[in-house]
Amino acid sequence: MSLKTIRDISLKDKRILVRVDFNVPVDEQGRVTDDARIRATLPTIRYILDQGAKAILMSHLGRPKGKVVEKLRMNDVARRLGELLGKEVQKADDCIGPEVEQAVSRLRPGDVLLLENLRFHPEEEANDREFARKLASLGDVYVNDAFGTAHRAHASTAGVAEFLPAYAGFLMEKEVKALGGILSDPGRPFIAVLGGAKVADKIGVLKNLVEKVNGFLLGGGMANTFLRAEGYSLGDSLVDEEHVEFAGEFLDGVRRRGIEVELPVDLVIARDGDEAATKVVSPREVPEGWRALDIGPKTVERFTLILGNARTVFWNGPLGLFEKDAFARGSEAIARALTRPGIVSVVGGGDTLAVLEKFGLADKVTHASTGGGASLEFLEGRELPGVAVLEKE
Ligand code: ADP
Ligand code: MG
Repeated sequence: MSLKTIRDISLKDKRILVRVDFNVPVDEQGRVTDDARIRATLPTIRYILDQGAKAILMSHLGRPKGKVVEKLRMNDVARRLGELLGKEVQKADDCIGPEVEQAVSRLRPGDVLLLENLRFHPEEEANDREFARKLASLGDVYVNDAFGTAHRAHASTAGVAEFLPAYAGFLMEKEVKALGGILSDPGRPFIAVLGGAKVADKIGVLKNLVEKVNGFLLGGGMANTFLRAEGYSLGDSLVDEEHVEFAGEFLDGVRRRGIEVELPVDLVIARDGDEAATKVVSPREVPEGWRALDIGPKTVERFTLILGNARTVFWNGPLGLFEKDAFARGSEAIARALTRPGIVSVVGGGDTLAVLEKFGLADKVTHASTGGGASLEFLEGRELPGVAVLEKE
């Protein structure tokens, strides 16, 4: 898959309408509490400005559900962006309409205007054609850098491309290259490490990756469901009863194909409601009233040995209840194994990125995807509407 990018056209003096992902965490006063997503798109914005173009930025923030919600205004995002860029960022109080049009007409090359939260209008998520046309009228060229929203067919992520020439920003390009690369041409062995809480969220990824990988390492709450399918009762551990049958069939299918699949051989368990006293046991030995909350040391050893020989690794889903230090060792060990020189490591998922952050490893992996849901849908092999409109013919 190859995308048209902002390097492919002349931007000079043009109005560049850029869909960014500024859906950042904000506090009760609407103040930005984590600016990682703003920083991730700075290379694209700086490039547009350096080319002598006018940047008109648009994003959603939170879930205002089609109405104006004061604390979800983009004011503090504009302030923070201004600090990061080291220049004034103008802010409009709506994303369409006469006042916005006037603000756009006053822009000079090198100026930045941030539009108001797109989702104050219900037409955004409905991908309303007329709304998309109004947004498109603000620019000469459309750039999409919002990989995190690319799995949604909304007016600003897909609809506008009907009215304007569409190009990928650098973040979008980087995401699609990294995720597309491991699906189309991974160095081998290619190992997928999957964990997290629920099997249901990962079924699509498991099914698509069967066609691609040489091995699966399963851990976290999700692995409990697979262990149950193997006949272990697991006490009071989180087990997704509805998917035990799927898990059993999946294991059979994978093994029949000769693909390696590893489940935990030991578990860190704790008594329900008393997480201070922990024990390490085999999957056979989890008593009633106890829960498996991390992979054990033998499992860590096996998993890291396999990762030591891998050339490509995709990781989604923590291997334990990593929010508590007592159950973060498995996730930490996997994260560290992914930083080995020579390995291509791609990590996706909001909580999985939080593991990397917790141990200061976010910039030590090959690619930490900014798109939680989008990266998973991409790895399910699905076409993302926001990416499809950027593809080269
Ligand atoms: P991501 O956001 O990276 O896709 P998920 O949302 O699927 O990841 O899963 C993350 C959650 O899974 C974390 O909150 C973590 O505490 C939880 N989790 C992992 N292992 C276990 C376990 N053994 N028991 C309970 N919760 C777990
Ligand atoms: Mg999550």
